Amino acid sequence: MPSPSTSSRRSAETLAPTYPPKAPSPLFTGRCFCALTTFAVTALPTRSYICHCTDCRQFSGSSFHHMAVFPASSVTITTLQSSPKLFPAIAGLSIGSSITAFGEPGHGTRQFCTKCGSSLFMTVPDSIEEMRGSVIIGVGSIDGSESDERLRPRYEGFCKRREAWMREVEGAVESEEW
Ligand SMILES: [Zn+2]
Ligand SMILES: [Zn+2]
Repeated sequence: MPSPSTSSRRSAETLAPTYPPKAPSPLFTGRCFCALTTFAVTALPTRSYICHCTDCRQFSGSSFHHMAVFPASSVTITTLQSSPKLFPAIAGLSIGSSITAFGEPGHGTRQFCTKCGSSLFMTVPDSIEEMRGSVIIGVGSIDGSESDERLRPRYEGFCKRREAWMREVEGAVESEEW
């Protein structure tokens, strides 16, 4: 026999409006340098890692690239030129003209802001099973990333190309290649 408080709570729930469904609140938000493109993510990263490979160094323009992997279905992109859209799962498809995609077949496709050039997203071929359905986001574009333990790198790739002056990330798994 339910207590009176339980049954009154239950009837309040029944009366509560159920439509429109409430969108899950984002766990992360971010933007490019000029803020033409902003994004929101409703899931935790499946991986956060640093890559020292030549491609990542050139794309980021830095000595290494810190990235986090998210389910593509959790990422919504908004640009000043269009309404919010889920991340395009097809590699190479860009949103309006605010994001340009660059990549070669069989390799990762990297996406950057057409206006300010900020590196934003990356997708890898579906043949890499553990990354299927994922989008990789440059952690520097995520708001407040510098103090967010959820984004701390747990993996370091291409350590053979790590700068000689740079120390390994404490506690991260190291790999000489991918
Ligand atoms: Zn921009
Ligand atoms: Zn890399």
